[in-house]
Amino acid sequence: MLLCVSCSHEDNVISETKLINSPVIITQEIANTVLPVIAYHRVSLAVKNDMTVTPELFRRHMQFLSDNHYNPITMDQWCDAVLDGRELPEKPILITFDDAWKSQYKNALPVLNEFGYKATFYAYTDVIGNRSTMTYNQLQNLVNQGHNVGCHSSTHSNLAKPFKTENKERYNARLIRETSGAKKTIEKNIGSTVKHFCYPYGYYNTNLIAILKKTGFISGVTVNPAPNTIESPLFKIGRYIIAPWTTEKKLKYKLSLLPIVFQNTEPFDGEICVTPTENFSTILPEVNDLCYTKLKMYWKWKKTNDVLWNGETRMLSHSFNKPVEPGIYTAQVHAWDTKSNHYTYAWLFQQL
Ligand SMILES: [Zn+2]
Repeated sequence: MLLCVSCSHEDNVISETKLINSPVIITQEIANTVLPVIAYHRVSLAVKNDMTVTPELFRRHMQFLSDNHYNPITMDQWCDAVLDGRELPEKPILITFDDAWKSQYKNALPVLNEFGYKATFYAYTDVIGNRSTMTYNQLQNLVNQGHNVGCHSSTHSNLAKPFKTENKERYNARLIRETSGAKKTIEKNIGSTVKHFCYPYGYYNTNLIAILKKTGFISGVTVNPAPNTIESPLFKIGRYIIAPWTTEKKLKYKLSLLPIVFQNTEPFDGEICVTPTENFSTILPEVNDLCYTKLKMYWKWKKTNDVLWNGETRMLSHSFNKPVEPGIYTAQVHAWDTKSNHYTYAWLFQQL
């Protein structure tokens, strides 16, 4: 069965002209695909922080993917599937690396090559070529070997809000430097186009996404821990951060999570809330008579108990005790159906 999607999701529309001229044919296989994305930082024997994995653990993860018939794809391949209906292998997974640490090149790349896996690496320009980060030559080598190199800004600053000392013009100028400027710098030095962005700290909003689209990027990865589908906006791709304690069992659990797509979420994903936010609400979809037996919500990474569920309207809501303080907030919902399938969704909004 073929689904003809003229506009699968507003956020995935790159060019209106293109859609009018050539509607994208999406096969049922692609429509049903679940894409988990995993994110590594340093791959080193010296485990300095919560985001360093040993080369030995990294190898065990790759072995796990191989034993369980996962097929790593690049961000180019995912975008080709979402935007052009290109085919994907079964059980796709996307392996990403942030910050372009030299240890990724030294310790992860040989393992990727051994397994024949391609990955997507995100570099920020200010540190390229430093003692512990890759050089432009090494980034170019990655591209030559079929990996993707994306942009992770120029200085790794929080792009979702101005600095305290920054007025509107200066903030806008910084956004241009950190997106368009960094993109051009990497492209000039590696000799190929950079199309994919990685939000520093995972922070994004509608304003930043609009700038990225104008700048020529076609995707943006977050740190919202949830799987993706073809319906997931390409500028809000969820990822699981891999930690030193992510054993194969924990990795298996992350990769087993199923996606749900919420409707009418308030505040919506990526929203910049100007007026005080006192409530959160969303409608959970009715898919295959999905009947939720258990629901859990995590607010600011902590479980909240006072979540209201209305089975008739399928509305999930949560009232905050007082208006939300200014800041950027990530929330997650976990839901289980009668067959114990586990679904999850994660999103982010910003309170001014
Ligand atoms: Zn980073």
